Amino acid sequence: MTKFQDLSIKLKLISIQLFTTLFILVFFVSIYLFSQYHQYERRAFTRMSTLTEILGSNSISALLFFDNDAANDVLESLDTQADVLNAVVYDHNSEVFARFDRKGYTGYSFGLMNTETKTAGDGHFILTKKIVFDDLKVGWIALRLDSSTRRLELLEAVRQSFMLFVAGLILAGLLSLRAQKPISDSIGKLAETAKQIEDSGDYTIRVKSNSRDEIGLLVSSFNDMLEKIHNHEQHLEQLVVERTVELEAAKTKAEESDHLKSAFLASMSHELRTPLNSIIGFTGILLQGMAGPLSEEQAKQLGMVKGSASHLLELINDILDISKIESGRIQVYDEAFKIDLLLVMAVSSLRPFAEKKGLRLRHNIETDLPKLYSDKRRLEQILLNLINNAIKFTDEGEIIVNCYVNEDFLYIDVIDTGIGISEKDLETIFETFRQIDTGLDRVKEGSGLGLAISKKLAELLSGTIKVVSEPGVGSTFSVVLPVTSEK
Ligand code: ADP
Repeated sequence: MTKFQDLSIKLKLISIQLFTTLFILVFFVSIYLFSQYHQYERRAFTRMSTLTEILGSNSISALLFFDNDAANDVLESLDTQADVLNAVVYDHNSEVFARFDRKGYTGYSFGLMNTETKTAGDGHFILTKKIVFDDLKVGWIALRLDSSTRRLELLEAVRQSFMLFVAGLILAGLLSLRAQKPISDSIGKLAETAKQIEDSGDYTIRVKSNSRDEIGLLVSSFNDMLEKIHNHEQHLEQLVVERTVELEAAKTKAEESDHLKSAFLASMSHELRTPLNSIIGFTGILLQGMAGPLSEEQAKQLGMVKGSASHLLELINDILDISKIESGRIQVYDEAFKIDLLLVMAVSSLRPFAEKKGLRLRHNIETDLPKLYSDKRRLEQILLNLINNAIKFTDEGEIIVNCYVNEDFLYIDVIDTGIGISEKDLETIFETFRQIDTGLDRVKEGSGLGLAISKKLAELLSGTIKVVSEPGVGSTFSVVLPVTSEK
């Protein structure tokens, strides 16, 4: 069933008015019926009192002269009063002197006459009265009246009241239909317009209202609000246009800068890498003594030149890599390959550097690993970087490379017993050019780009790199890659 609060304003107003009318009608009709009920009795006794008065005074002479016939004649006149059932005249000794009994009601006894009474019994009213002549009691008169018509009269009153009641309700309904119209129409119009605005997004629509009451105030506030929203919207649109123009300009500028950066990087690649490769190559030749013998000091100095050149080349290569990744110009070339072979080669190539620092470098590869479908060269680059870091940041102990499959993912863990990384630094090590400053003993060579490149490459291969570490204990860098068959 619909709840009252879910009804429309129109129905709410009508039902409130109908309920009020209903309540008032019930109240007044009840009072009317109640008074009708009691008035009937009052009227009956008034009539009986008048009748006994007349009959009593008409019977005085008959009583005085013991003329029963005359008294009977007087009572006979009651025949015309249809509701009079019995009437008895008693002499001063309370003996029956004359009586009138309607057919079917004969022989009714009023009992002993000693006081004047007035009783409403079951289906009748009884009134007894003294008959007085010159202040002397000469007899009694008793009258019994049929009260069954009272019920009929009451029913008639109920019937009439009901008809009035229904007529009243219909009238109230019709009146309230008209009376609520100005209120419900205004609110309905307001709600309808609000919905129309919501659907169309057109804030130029306005609601019209001539009323000066609260609804009028509501409508004018609503219109003011619409005006403000409309102005605000126009202002916003203007701002969007302006900002779009600015953004377009910024985008063009950024594209130009990107273009310049690419051109710069391309030329750097060529202009710097070519001479650096020559330097490295020629210092190598010199160091091998192919251009004549070198003194110990010359060899040492040349070694330093070669080392610095190699470092510079590494740095340039890293910068080129990261800029390619960031500009999205890097391509991955997936192929199927055996990961264990790749790992063994990477570990073997770096083992001499580990051993040079007195570290053990070993691998632990699960047997029966599935073939991996990925970019072999990029994965190798990641692994070399992680193992290199492990060697770089470990002074004693060992480095283990574990490889295993767990729930459709291939894990390659590079575990070291090095200096470790604090929790705070773990948040930044994958950012570009980040190197942790841990004090005097931490002057290690590097660009701060290795981990940033590795992580981005891992993501390009649909994987990731995770790290757990404890300062002074060691670190574990894990490359996690999905084990997928050929795409
Ligand atoms: P870098 O060229 O300096 O090695 P990376 O991006 O590879 O640059 O590493 C960023 C920083 O993360 C390093 O400078 C180092 O402080 C820290 N780091 C990387 N790997 C390790 C590791 N295995 N043990 C301890 N610290 C490490």
